[in-house]
Amino acid sequence: MNNRDCPVCNCSSKKELAHIKFSLPEHIKLPSSYNVVECDNCGMCYSDTTATIEDYDSYYINCNYYSGNTVTDNSAIIDAIVKHCPSEYRILDMGFGNGQLLNSLKLLGFSDLSGIDPSIDSVNHLKSEGIHQAYQGSIFSLPEKKFFGQFDCCCLTSVLEHLLDPQEAIHNLSQYIKSNGLLVLDIPDYSQVDSVDAAIPNQFNQEHINYFSKESIEWLMNSAGFVSLEYIDFPRYNKDSVEHSLIGVFRKDDTYKAKNIKDKKTALSIERYINTQKTKEMKRKIIIDQLIHDDKKVYIWGTGSFVSYLMETTNINKCNILSFIDNNHLKQGKVFYGFPSISPSEIVDSNAVIVIATMMFTDSIMKQICEMNIKNEVVPLALL
Ligand SMILES: [Zn+2]
Repeated sequence: MNNRDCPVCNCSSKKELAHIKFSLPEHIKLPSSYNVVECDNCGMCYSDTTATIEDYDSYYINCNYYSGNTVTDNSAIIDAIVKHCPSEYRILDMGFGNGQLLNSLKLLGFSDLSGIDPSIDSVNHLKSEGIHQAYQGSIFSLPEKKFFGQFDCCCLTSVLEHLLDPQEAIHNLSQYIKSNGLLVLDIPDYSQVDSVDAAIPNQFNQEHINYFSKESIEWLMNSAGFVSLEYIDFPRYNKDSVEHSLIGVFRKDDTYKAKNIKDKKTALSIERYINTQKTKEMKRKIIIDQLIHDDKKVYIWGTGSFVSYLMETTNINKCNILSFIDNNHLKQGKVFYGFPSISPSEIVDSNAVIVIATMMFTDSIMKQICEMNIKNEVVPLALL
């Protein structure tokens, strides 16, 4: 079934690489499965999801947790901006989330900084930090026509992999950029996804639906009237796993003729990654079935996409769940799969097992459990 044409070249002919399924909490109205496919024409790999742009707009407005305090390593994109942009440049961060990048640029002496984000929480948070040119809006509904052609540089970090229509997004963003202005992208590099050790939903979930490489992003950007000035491979290390990001710096140039080189690496990398992870999933299923067999009471620490995935692919929903635990105050007090989400300080049953169900924060949670002197048995699922 054809749900989505290729988001890079619009071809409808594709090959299925994997079927991904996950169970989403009640308040998330997005499909709970999709095929990962490879475009026959350009080699772009993407989720063939049935979700619509309206579904995703609603999701990012209502289920946005990015204004929380998650810190990401932005050093490579900051270096790229400093290298290519004088400090008097007018800079726009589209989808600025918690405002971390804009705050870092402010500290480095950039003074003309603006941000647009779908979440009003994010907008208010940025203003409270002294960056007042913060506006609510989406890359698909440009809110401020007065900004057209006004910016020397636009940044799009960790956004493009989320968008149903990245071509329209780049076209829209291009309108904000001056002639010969710059666009700086930060995207996960899926041509190297086989170096990642994290579980499948960290790479393939309801949010990550475009799996770019240098070839496919070049094709997309050339088609939208941008020429690449520089690509930086930025590895982010997490224990034995390394997740590669690609920083791309592009100049607006309508005269450039695209070369359009097919991506031949990403599909192979995805297939290698999925096969490795399937073996690990078998081990997790055995541990969870044992918890059920022993009738253990459990706290599940984590409410993110790993939990969604476990709900769909294991029997974890048949465990004797007391509640979910999350450090993110935006998630505390909410109900997930019929159970409350509490803060770690609300753990009261010392006989219950704490199942850590997060992909990237297991080490810091285990350290936190030690520091809080919590004596419960702990099962770190991501480390199995
Ligand atoms: Zn294509």
